[in-house]
Amino acid sequence: MRLSGIRLSHFKNTENCETVGLDCPERVIMSMSQHIGAPAEPLVRAGDEVKVGTKIGDADTRMTCPIHASVSGKVEKIGEMLLPNGKTCKTVEILSDGLMTPDPDIAPPVITDKASLAAAVKESGCCGMGGAGFPTHIKLDYDEQKTRIDTLVINAAECEPYITSDYRELMENTDRVIGGMKLVKEVLGIERAVIGIEENKPKAIKLFRERLADEKGFEVLKLRSSYPQGAEKVIAFYATGGRIIGEGELAYDKGVIVLNASTTGFLYDYSQTGMPFVSRRVTVDGDAVGKPGNLRAPIGTPITDLLAACDTDMENVKRLIAGGPMMGISLYDPGLPLLKTNNAFLAFKTPAKKEVQTACIKCGRCIAACPLGLMPAEFERAYDRRDREALNRLKINLCMNCGSCSYVCPAKRPLAEKNQLAKGFAISR
Ligand code: SF4
Ligand code: SF4
Repeated sequence: MRLSGIRLSHFKNTENCETVGLDCPERVIMSMSQHIGAPAEPLVRAGDEVKVGTKIGDADTRMTCPIHASVSGKVEKIGEMLLPNGKTCKTVEILSDGLMTPDPDIAPPVITDKASLAAAVKESGCCGMGGAGFPTHIKLDYDEQKTRIDTLVINAAECEPYITSDYRELMENTDRVIGGMKLVKEVLGIERAVIGIEENKPKAIKLFRERLADEKGFEVLKLRSSYPQGAEKVIAFYATGGRIIGEGELAYDKGVIVLNASTTGFLYDYSQTGMPFVSRRVTVDGDAVGKPGNLRAPIGTPITDLLAACDTDMENVKRLIAGGPMMGISLYDPGLPLLKTNNAFLAFKTPAKKEVQTACIKCGRCIAACPLGLMPAEFERAYDRRDREALNRLKINLCMNCGSCSYVCPAKRPLAEKNQLAKGFAISR
């Protein structure tokens, strides 16, 4: 594998916007599918009373994170929602009583070893807050007899344009992030903890270097500002002097655990309070947003509430994206709820530019730009002739849909979009 990367304009307009807490929403829509893996099943029924942190959804599968009520109030209904990826999932809609009363049964978890840490993290409902949404407990669920973890990598690259929610976590909750690093490092007996921050965040690099100067086994890694520096395989490569996470492997197979910076901060808070994953910070930006900023809001808050809190010109929004402009997903409905994985909402007054596509000129730029050394032009050809065997041979399954190939293509081929379709086609029968 050869790791490259592309240069993007950063547009980090909200980097100095301190997080503002959003008032309690009138109602929240709790999606039962908020991360990679199996969805949860509702554990409550219409009419049930819930408090903040009450478990309302779970499933008996390894790849599920439980869902907890983010407001106190009454369950209005069990509904269904069409997700932006075209799948449907169950929802629990809660009418808030406006009190935000915490569940009285909530207590800090007892964490003494790897097993109790992984169990506590699963119970917390934590999944990666950087966008991908991989269940965090799975990253900790390795076989100690076979695997030795020597490096903990905290991913604070935040390489997508516009998004500053992790940056605000670094600047506002420095102690939380360091506390989370220490918790995981100490409980798992990891020698080295590295926080990787892109060089376009010099204040955060300075702050963490000062705070970690006297701590043994902690490092701050200044990363080149290039996209997709924050992809797990990419940051793990740079933080470990070149370890490659191969096909079918997780980071721990290479002795590494990679956690997002905001996730790390959450884990520390959870270890102290026991309050599960019920709220998060989200960046709201774009030229339709009057007051761009960072908000902390209960999970399940309608996106319309978040946009309204930032004075968004809703009449003129032509494009709404969950996430960044590279890997984000266009939303068809601003009434959808905030999910655990949403780090940004971008609202623009202009629709997506319709590019004029021309024939591939075989320049190879897409291949040079791919951080995983894949062959996007070949993917496109194989998909266009519906050649499943070729797609699998070319390893379409490894594509992480970072969009770098589309971005650099002079012929404006929709490579990343086709890759998504091709992936689905390759695994279909
Ligand atoms: S970058 Fe575009 S034009 Fe160049 S090889 Fe790839 S698909 Fe073809
Ligand atoms: S979208 Fe896939 S093929 Fe294109 S550059 Fe990213 S990882 Fe490579």
